[in-house]
Amino acid sequence: MSQEITLQEFVQWLQRYGTYIDAKEAYLSELDAAIGDADHGANMARGMEKVCARLLEEGNTYQNVSALMRNVAMTLISSVGGAAGPLYGAFFLRAAKDLNSNISAVTLTQLAQMFRSGLEGVQQRGKAVRDEKTMIDTLAPAVEALENAAATGQDMQQALAEALQAAEAGMHHTIMLQASKGRASYLGPRAIGHQDPGATSAYYLILAAQESWGEEDKKTGRQWSVRQ
Ligand code: ADP
Ligand code: MG
Repeated sequence: MSQEITLQEFVQWLQRYGTYIDAKEAYLSELDAAIGDADHGANMARGMEKVCARLLEEGNTYQNVSALMRNVAMTLISSVGGAAGPLYGAFFLRAAKDLNSNISAVTLTQLAQMFRSGLEGVQQRGKAVRDEKTMIDTLAPAVEALENAAATGQDMQQALAEALQAAEAGMHHTIMLQASKGRASYLGPRAIGHQDPGATSAYYLILAAQESWGEEDKKTGRQWSVRQ
């Protein structure tokens, strides 16, 4: 199995994420209805539809991973209303900025650095830290898992499996938290008991990565289905 992620595989990741967001739109808005304004699914679906339409048009024309990520960021920032658009935009923009622009395939170490940069972008933009019941609670443990895996010489497959497990645990951890950022913070303790919508959409980002890059059959082009 390849230990480098190619530009084409980044495109596949984003397409798979778009498919998840489309399939989970109602669920994400339902989660947001409980502690926000019921639009997270619609916001993300609008953004990822635009991203995927652009990928179909331009998917083979990007010079490198950095250029691809920058375009995704711009599309999300310009098409998604609400808090999540600029925050996901910041993730992709910062990841693009810190990545050497000559790179056309990404190693595990580079992937961990890239996602760390993305996380820093989200944190700089939203000023949230862990345990404030946001997408950070999914992204931060996933990034840490990638970094640990890279530092201990694990392969891409193991690293992504661990990142996914960490992301899932982080997403579930938001259920018991009270929010101190975003709309859910207006609810005070009433937000406790509900899973954060942004932490959930961020989980699908990591799930799509694991399925795109971390499975043996990733290069066979075999049909895949959305996990329920
Ligand atoms: P809005 O809250 O404007 O309606 P969305 O519903 O699309 O936007 O997104 C809500 C999600 O955004 C939340 O569930 C949370 O995960 C995330 N979020 C909100 N504020 C922040 C922040 N300051 N930092 C990180 N994530 C945040
Ligand atoms: Mg909302």
